[in-house]
Amino acid sequence: MKGSCVCGNVAFAVDVAIEKLYQCHCKICQKQTGTSAVTGCFVATGNFRWISGEDSISSFTKPSGYRYDFCRCCGATVPNMFRSGDKVWIPVGAFDEPISAKVTDHIFVKYKAGWDEIGGDGRLHDEFYPVYE
Ligand SMILES: [Zn+2]
Ligand SMILES: [Zn+2]
Repeated sequence: MKGSCVCGNVAFAVDVAIEKLYQCHCKICQKQTGTSAVTGCFVATGNFRWISGEDSISSFTKPSGYRYDFCRCCGATVPNMFRSGDKVWIPVGAFDEPISAKVTDHIFVKYKAGWDEIGGDGRLHDEFYPVYE
């Protein structure tokens, strides 16, 4: 399964089925996306590879450790490697093909926007929950 940024410069592939997604409704994710939440998933590093554009990626990290990587050409959020090196976080909207997985967990729900109406069967967590385990 392939994914890419808005301009198409950064592209990647995952060779494993995505089984679950999560959404983070914290205020930083609201600002980072400009909308209600980040929707992400994780794959083992061995199941991920860059196709192109890896040298076009910039990174921003807050003092808290909150980090996101983005394409320098179009600004779209792109996958980033866990500090531990064993997993890669992927912004789910970047995939170019349909995904059958559903959102299984919503985190930092306590901080969600008043206009953010959460649907589906995902579990709701007021604060952090280790969605990558
Ligand atoms: Zn781009
Ligand atoms: Zn967040």
